[in-house]
This record gives sequence, C-alpha cells and structure tokens, in this order.
Amino acid sequence: MSDIQKAIQSLKNSIPQEVALIAVSKTKPIEDLKDAYQGGQRIFGENRVAEMIEKSEKLPSDIEWHFIGHLQRKKVKSLLPHASLIHAVDSLKLLEEINKRAEQIEKVQPVLIQVHIAEESAKYGFSPDELESVFEKIQGNYEAVQIKGLMGMATFTDDKAKIRAEFKVLKNAFDLIKDKFYAEDDGFSEISMGMSGDYEIAIKEGSTMVRIGSSIFGKRN
Ligand SMILES: *Cc1c(COP(=O)(O)O)cnc(C)c1O
Repeated sequence: MSDIQKAIQSLKNSIPQEVALIAVSKTKPIEDLKDAYQGGQRIFGENRVAEMIEKSEKLPSDIEWHFIGHLQRKKVKSLLPHASLIHAVDSLKLLEEINKRAEQIEKVQPVLIQVHIAEESAKYGFSPDELESVFEKIQGNYEAVQIKGLMGMATFTDDKAKIRAEFKVLKNAFDLIKDKFYAEDDGFSEISMGMSGDYEIAIKEGSTMVRIGSSIFGKRN
C-alpha cells in the first residue's frame, strides 16, 4: 500500500461510516489522485474550476467531484456538468446563477450554503444571524438547485475550545434551519465541516462530511 492509500485507510478506520470522507486533492498531481482512487477513494475535493475539470476528464467517471472553494459566477457554467456537490455557496447571486445554468442543462445541482463561523473577517459565507432570512428568500425559488445543507470553516488556531464553539454554531444553525424549513425534507441533511487539523472535533460536533487534504496527500506548496 502507498502512503496515500495508508492515510486514507487509517482515516476511514477512525471516522464513523456515515461521515463522508472528501479527499481534498487541490494542487496535487493526477498520479496522486489515481493512487487514492486505487485505494478505494471515490470523492475528491477541488477549489479551482479549470483544475477540477481537467482532473475529472482524466480520471474514471465513477468519481464524485466536490467543488469546495469560493466560486465566481462567471465560472459556474463550465463547472456545473462536472460537480456532484458545490460546498460553498456564499451569495444569493451565486445561487441564482447556479440555478440558471443548471436549468439550461436540465440538471438539479446539489449545493451547500456556506456559513461564516470563523473569527477571520476575510472568510466567505453568510453570517449565522442572517441565515434565517436568507432561507426565507430561498424558499420556493431556485428549482434547479437542491440545497443539501450547510458548510463552514473554523478559525485556523490551536485553540480547540474555540474551534469546538465555532462548529457548535454551525450545528445549531443547521438544526434551526432544518426545523424551520426542511423538517419534512430528508434531502437537507449535510453539515460539511472539518479539515486535517480539526476533523475529530468536527465529527464530535455533528459533521457529516470532512474535507481532508494534507493528512492524505501531504503538505501543499
Ligand atoms: C484546502 C481545503 C481543505 C483541506 O485542508 P487540509 O488542511 O489540507 O485538510 C478543506 N476545505 C477547504 C474549503 C479547503 O480549501
């Protein structure tokens, strides 16, 4: 077994079966992805549109490609045919563009809504406070989009209590939105939170999808 395959195996042994492991392969060469694929990995995460398309065209078609980065509206059209899930919808304008382009290719595009839970002000996403009013606006619109849940990133820090508190904010926001808008809808079920440094905390706090890069593929340049 290669180092990449060993890393995937040990992650799979340590995370609950119902939590999806997204192998974040951004910047990594196609050989590394093939290696992971041969080790059984079928979900990959990328944050550049051109890079994701290129990789998806070179690798087997049973891979689920998750777009995890900030998405520009002008790139939605080319991304859509390739994306199984778009993790980081951070504006209604972006949601509208995804809806429009999905309609054009007769696709219903699964997405997550990004919530800003970290301290850093540069991070993208809706604030937890505005989330309810955002979902009020979403209801009944955007027929070509399926909202599967929420996504967030904790502050980059060693302070575990802080990370835990931020993930709790996301989980509480999910529960509130679920109760209020999707109580009858099993499709609203995902909380994408947790990366290499904090996935164990994220899982304890209710994550259903962890996005792990460097612990699988090694450090990025
Ligand atoms: C790069 C990235 C990850 C993976 O980060 P690691 O620390 O390498 O596990 C997860 N989520 C997002 C949104 C990313 O951009």
